[in-house]
Amino acid sequence: MTKTYDAIIIGTGQAGPFLAERLAGAGMKVAIIERKLFGGTCVNTGCTPTKTMVASAYAAYMVRRAADFGVVNKGPVSVDMKLVKSRKDAIAGHSSAGIERWLKGMTNCTVYQGHARFESSKEVSVGSERLTADRIFINAGGRAVVPQMPGIEGVPYLTNSSIMDVDFLPRHLIIVGGGYIGLEFGQMYRRFGSEVTIIETAPYLARHEDEDVSTTIREMLELEGINVRLNATCIGFSRRGEEILAHVDCNTGDPEVRGSHVLLAVGRRPNTDDLGLTEAGVAVDKRGYIVVDDQLLTSVPGIWALGDCNGKGAFTHTTFNDFEIVAANLLDNDRRKVSDRITAYALYTDPPLGRAGLTESEVRKTGRRALIGRRPMTEVRRAVEKGETQGFMKILVDAQTHQILGAAILGTGGDEAIHSILDVMYAKAPYTVIQRAVHIHPTVSELIPTMLGELQPLSQAAGASK
Ligand SMILES: Cc1cc2nc3c(=O)[nH]c(=O)nc-3n(C[C@H](O)[C@H](O)[C@H](O)COP(=O)(O)OP(=O)(O)OC[C@H]3O[C@@H](n4cnc5c(N)ncnc54)[C@H](O)[C@@H]3O)c2cc1C
Repeated sequence: MTKTYDAIIIGTGQAGPFLAERLAGAGMKVAIIERKLFGGTCVNTGCTPTKTMVASAYAAYMVRRAADFGVVNKGPVSVDMKLVKSRKDAIAGHSSAGIERWLKGMTNCTVYQGHARFESSKEVSVGSERLTADRIFINAGGRAVVPQMPGIEGVPYLTNSSIMDVDFLPRHLIIVGGGYIGLEFGQMYRRFGSEVTIIETAPYLARHEDEDVSTTIREMLELEGINVRLNATCIGFSRRGEEILAHVDCNTGDPEVRGSHVLLAVGRRPNTDDLGLTEAGVAVDKRGYIVVDDQLLTSVPGIWALGDCNGKGAFTHTTFNDFEIVAANLLDNDRRKVSDRITAYALYTDPPLGRAGLTESEVRKTGRRALIGRRPMTEVRRAVEKGETQGFMKILVDAQTHQILGAAILGTGGDEAIHSILDVMYAKAPYTVIQRAVHIHPTVSELIPTMLGELQPLSQAAGASK
């Protein structure tokens, strides 16, 4: 027998549970379906566990640096990977269990556990159950891409999900992919004590960033003893006894990297291939992302797609914003839209990168008249006091409107300090608002007004190009 609801939500990631609460709170009868772990990627195999482990790695790093701060620690530093994992499991597990409890206790909401599939535009099956609703919300997320590299099927490999079960120290971790996932795992495992090699096909790590940002990140990682292999044009794998060989075929360096474990971090793909979207008539693009409009409605009236599966963002905060947009339009008569969102994210290396808006090379490509300010972290007192002076900050401003176009803060506290810039960008206020603000001393943020007082024409500044 088919069960009728006012709304069906597929997936309990960073939009589904919040939407369930709003819809159920508005008196709708809601069904929410989860096939695996409550809370999805962020909570179980993404943000929360990785940042928990980044914190463990930072602790190991700082203990090794203790003498720099006058702290005496004469014994060898070792990391107990079982304890690192159990701390991570406790924090991530607590969040996941909290979401499960919350949903299962929610009035007007029924939780189904199993794989959801569209049978038609208004009908979804979960195992032997059939559910129908006039409104269906897809929050199905994504998963790691396993690329068709020669020999990959003959070697064991890890992804961001399976590496969560690792409770030992890999002797030599080979990471394929120099994007944010590869870089975070790379630095973390190096600090735990593994030898680490990061292999990247592009000539740069963090390839979407400006050249000065990605070069500084590479230098930071190399300083910690991470091997970085760029321009790796033809990556393949084979086994020799216990060892895994990654064939790199780069322009320079050893054509072969010998490691003990491989982590694939080459990108993500949407979980849309097994959802029955054809039966529902929902259109996807050529990479499998669900096509949505500015209010996240799909090609089928009554079906919305939120989060990583719609390709409009790839972060927890963008997924949560998708929930806000859908809820505002449906329940609050507030026409919020995706195109109002400003690009913002962080890369959680240590020190982190906080980013907002356009990169310098994107601004240059627009051809507009712009101003740029730049300041190295060696000239930020807070960074000097903390002994964390790697990196720099820079900001780009429209020369005519004086509105901020973009910024990057690669340095201690950069993931937090970027928000004062981001908020002024949302306010569409001129940069002089921050320049005249009195920021707290000593902070990284206090140098943002100073940097804005030293703007120069972008056309005259040495350029970051990629
Ligand atoms: C290693 C790593 C680190 C990251 N770090 C950060 C970070 O620091 N900051 C940040 O903002 N983002 C980070 N991200 C990205 C972030 O995790 C994702 O952008 C976010 O989780 C996307 O949320 P979502 O709700 O769209 O999808 P998901 O969180 O993937 O949730 C989708 C849910 O739907 C379920 N599902 C899928 N298909 C079905 C089906 N057919 N039936 C039933 N259920 C289904 C899945 O099981 C899953 O629970 C990271 C990602 C990774 C991999």
